Amino acid sequence: MVVVLREDASPDARAEIARLLAHAGDAAPAAQPLAGGAAFRVSAPLPPELVARLEAHPAVARLAPVTTPYVLASRAAHPQPTRVRVGDLLIGGDHPVIIAGPCAVESEEQVTEAARAARRAGAHLLRGGAFKPRTSPYSFQGLGLRGLELLARAGRAVGLPVVTEVMEPALVDPVAALADVLQIGSRNMQNFPLLRAVGRAVPRRPVLLKRGFAATIEEWLLAAEYILAEGNPDVILCERGVRGFDPQTRNILDLACVPLLRGLTHLPILVDPSHATGRRDLVLPMGVAAIAAGADGLLVEMHPHPAEALSDAEQAISPDDLRRLVAQVNAVRAALATPPAPPLSEAADPDSDPTAELVAAG
Ligand code: PEP
Ligand code: MN
Repeated sequence: MVVVLREDASPDARAEIARLLAHAGDAAPAAQPLAGGAAFRVSAPLPPELVARLEAHPAVARLAPVTTPYVLASRAAHPQPTRVRVGDLLIGGDHPVIIAGPCAVESEEQVTEAARAARRAGAHLLRGGAFKPRTSPYSFQGLGLRGLELLARAGRAVGLPVVTEVMEPALVDPVAALADVLQIGSRNMQNFPLLRAVGRAVPRRPVLLKRGFAATIEEWLLAAEYILAEGNPDVILCERGVRGFDPQTRNILDLACVPLLRGLTHLPILVDPSHATGRRDLVLPMGVAAIAAGADGLLVEMHPHPAEALSDAEQAISPDDLRRLVAQVNAVRAALATPPAPPLSEAADPDSDPTAELVAAG
């Protein structure tokens, strides 16, 4: 059970709820405050008179039975979809959001060119890695804080907010000072000190949480819970493929997780077809498929000169490809927004027998 407080509940009212839960008598289970006291998790049933008192309390938004180990991330505790605001943009709103840019910031010239191309192609946010989690310590590791400054400047110049990965707790606040969205990479999805740190970042920033490449959906939502429990409600999930057995693609894109997550969580869901496939020829079809599956948007790697990319060159798409992808995404979303055809019984001529054709064919 979770007791969710109203967002406008005063500190006094919050303290009163905490007191009610703490002094409910020996029969009452201990209540654990979450997200700085915005909700309380209760691990066993509450006495009926306390339930009635809480339900009638003006500071309580709702009491929700939560049967999953994640609470704040669950749809049961938060029935309305979360829309994450980044400047004027809403992630999880009515329009699909496209995050595009190079795998890594390589130089001022490269990131400036990428930013212009992303903007022209219709992307909404600019991505670029400054701190790169590379499998080999001998691979290009990114330009670090200098890369982040270049990314922030390039984004500002074209009017796009920027998304970048942070890999260490000690760097969370310096990165948050320059980036609009903090990315947690697949390899760090269960780096719990890092998850707590982005949950407490100053300034607070939305967090794009990529799925670990061998993480179950429950583990992923529990990673989101770490961030939410620190009091940061702006978590965006990003599916980026899970490890498979066939080397033809880098990973296996788990698109079923998109509609599945809709029922489990209120958090927005993005898909990254670049790391999921590792091949530029698959980025467009799988990006479009992700939108068809109901994703709130895409994160894609685009490089102004894909073949020259210092990291992940094989999966980088060109600015022209990005323009095509944006057009296809918008077309698919528009098609999905079309009201479904009326059921057969309403559409059919009332004088004809709707089963006649089936019978004849069968
Ligand atoms: C990235 O998006 O830059 C990245 C490294 O992706 P992932 O963490 O999904 O491998
Ligand atoms: Mn990459």
